[in-house]
Parts: sequence; structure tokens; C-alpha cells
Amino acid sequence: MSQSGMTDLPKRPDLQVAQAFLAELAKIRDVDGGVRRDSYGEGENRAHRIFRETAVSLGATWRQDAACNSYARIEGQDPSRQLIIGSHLDSVPTGGNFDGAAGVALGLAVLGGFIASDTRPPVSITVMAIRAEESTWFNASYIGSRAALGVLAPEELTQVVRADSGQSLGDAIVESGGTLAPLVRRAPQIDLGSITGFIEPHIEQGPALIAENMPVAAVTGIRGSFRYRSARCLGAYAHSGATPRDVRQDSIAATARLVATMDELWEHLENEGHDLTVTFGRFESDPRHHAFSKVAGEASFCLDVRSASDDTLERVHADLLRLVSEIESSHRVRFDLGERTGSDPAVLSTELVQGLTEAARASGAPCHLMASGAGHDAAAFCAAAVPSAMLFIRNRNGSHNPDEHMSEADFNIAAEVLLAFCKRHHG
Ligand SMILES: [Zn+2]
Repeated sequence: MSQSGMTDLPKRPDLQVAQAFLAELAKIRDVDGGVRRDSYGEGENRAHRIFRETAVSLGATWRQDAACNSYARIEGQDPSRQLIIGSHLDSVPTGGNFDGAAGVALGLAVLGGFIASDTRPPVSITVMAIRAEESTWFNASYIGSRAALGVLAPEELTQVVRADSGQSLGDAIVESGGTLAPLVRRAPQIDLGSITGFIEPHIEQGPALIAENMPVAAVTGIRGSFRYRSARCLGAYAHSGATPRDVRQDSIAATARLVATMDELWEHLENEGHDLTVTFGRFESDPRHHAFSKVAGEASFCLDVRSASDDTLERVHADLLRLVSEIESSHRVRFDLGERTGSDPAVLSTELVQGLTEAARASGAPCHLMASGAGHDAAAFCAAAVPSAMLFIRNRNGSHNPDEHMSEADFNIAAEVLLAFCKRHHG
């Protein structure tokens, strides 16, 4: 019998259903260790079947869309509006079990809490298990969420192919049970007008919450980036003993100067309060030509700069170009940075972030505020003008590896926070 309206039910999220769900997912092993939930492949498909079984056994309404994203829903007191709690179920090869899946498990814990206490939330709650977030398998980001939002470019269905097999994205979607016609038409797969917010719970992929000794964080923004994936510095090969300093065209010395100066710039801007990361992830000379007694005539490198602020990104980019031109004259070299790629920073919804911090306070959980350094599906929802927020859960050892570690106690705290949020969220 329903007691809703008379008590403050549900009191507890259904932690058991969440743990059982995660335990089933953990069985999808990679032969080289960790889990393997390949996007639109055997692993991810199996994870979505587990999601379906869990949703149905809970008594939620289950559906799958044209891009094979899965949804579990319970009706709210106002059934015409819905809060979406979502994250991805795919993983990188030899991945960890919690990246993505922990967020879906949290959503199921909340649904289970409402169902067990026979209570309706203020608005409907939809838990969304999102497809193909990891860009390892198909070289494109946020495929599932962009398809659901109706913003996946139709040509991606034919042009984006799976890195290991060469199968096209469209064929992989069909093989997983999807339909291409609505995606080609860019038909949104969720009723966009009904969404009051999108919350993505996710393990933290850096060490901030451990350093702060906080179990959870409300995420204020997702860093955007500019990137040069294949930059080169061109100088001239020369004899190391016979070439004087003032005529050398040393590409290694020039690039090293660029790396060191960009690092100083980062330190300077960080001290001024800017949110920023600067990473030269690769720096190498050509093994076919480099040698012990040669000045290096060519170096190649990549650069990844991220910030939660567009202004900071543009400022650093302008400084980069200025530095490049200074080093070109001081070191007699030429830089060819190649194609600039990147993404815009996502500013998350202040109301939802505030709602999460208030829910944390109400459940007695210490809650940190921070920007996310990694990209997430929430960025795609944010770009589609859906008010979005993220809830980070403390996690050891980073992610994208089998050693990631989220404690059950921290997961339970996050579930309490999310449940408290859902009980108060009227949209
Ligand atoms: Zn993730």
C-alpha cells in the first residue's frame, strides 16, 4: 500500500541491486585482465542485457532506442517531466569496472529505493545506460548520447569505423539491434522538451577527492581543450662537434625550450587562479636519422591543453603562437603544428550543482566542488542545452585500468546524496 505523501519515503537507496549489477558487469572480462565492454561489441551488448534484466526485475519500464542506448524509468508525480541519470556502460580494453558503470548502478539504486518504498518522485526518473562513450573503439566521442540527442552527424554512421575490425559505426549499431533510419534523420531518441536535467554520476579519474579527503564532489564544469596531435619542429641535421652554437638548427633544443617555457606559463597562470593543464604527451626524434654525434634536424611532438575556461584556452593559445615564433628566430628552426583540434569547455548548471551540494548537506555527506579534467557524456547534454551536472565519487588509482578502486562506503554515500537530490528535484 502506498504511503507516499504521508512520509518522507524512500529512506534508503537499493544498494543491493546496485552491487549485484556491478558484480554481473565485472564478469565481462578481458583476456589480458580487467573488463572489456567494447562499444557496440560483445562486451557492451552483454552489459546492456544485464541492465535490461536488472531494470525489469526491479519493476521499472525498460526501453532501447535506435542507437541501442537503454533506459529504465519510473513515473513521477508529474509524469510529463523527467530527470535523466545516466552514464556509459562501455569500457576501454583491459578497463576498470567502475568507469561509467558506477553511475548507471547509482541510478538503479535510486530507482530501486523509490520502487521498494512504493513512492513516486516529484518528476519521473529515467536511468540511461549510454552507448559508446569511450573513443578507443570508434574514433569519435559521445556517440550514444549524441545519437540520443539527435546531433550525431549521419555521415559518421558510414565514415567512423571500429579501430580493430574496420566495421562501420552504422553496421555495428544494426548488429547490436539498432535502426539507422531515425539516426540518419537525426531524430532525437528522448523527448527533449520533458527533460528537467541530466545528472551523470561518475568515479573521479584523478586524485583530487583523495587529496581533499572527500567522498563525493559536485562538478562545476568540464574542461575543454585545444590539441595538436602531430606537431613537428624542423631544423637541420649537423655534426655535433663541428657545428657552432650560433648556426645550429637544433630541433630538440628548440622543442625542449618550448616545453619548458609552456610549463613555466602553466605555473604562472595557475598561480593567478586559472584552471589549466598543459601536456606534451609525446616528444621524439626520428630513429632513422638521429644519432649520438648528430644535431637533431627534426623532432615531433603532441600537445594537449585543457581548461574549464574558454578565455584561458585562447590566452594560452596566443602565448603558444608567440613562443613558437620567438623560438623559431632564436633557434633557426620552423615549427609545423599541424591541425588544431579540441573541444569547448562545458559549464554545468548552477541550479543542479547547488541542488547536489544541498542534497549532500541534507544527507550529512562532505561534498567537494571541482572541474572535471576528462570529457564525459554530460558535455554532450550540456552542448544540447540540457541543464546538466555531474556527481564524482572518490576513486583510487585513476581509471581506464583494472586497478581503479571505489569503496563500497563511498558508493553508498553517493547513492544517499543522489536519492536526496531526486526527492527534492521538482525541475
Ligand atoms: Zn567514463
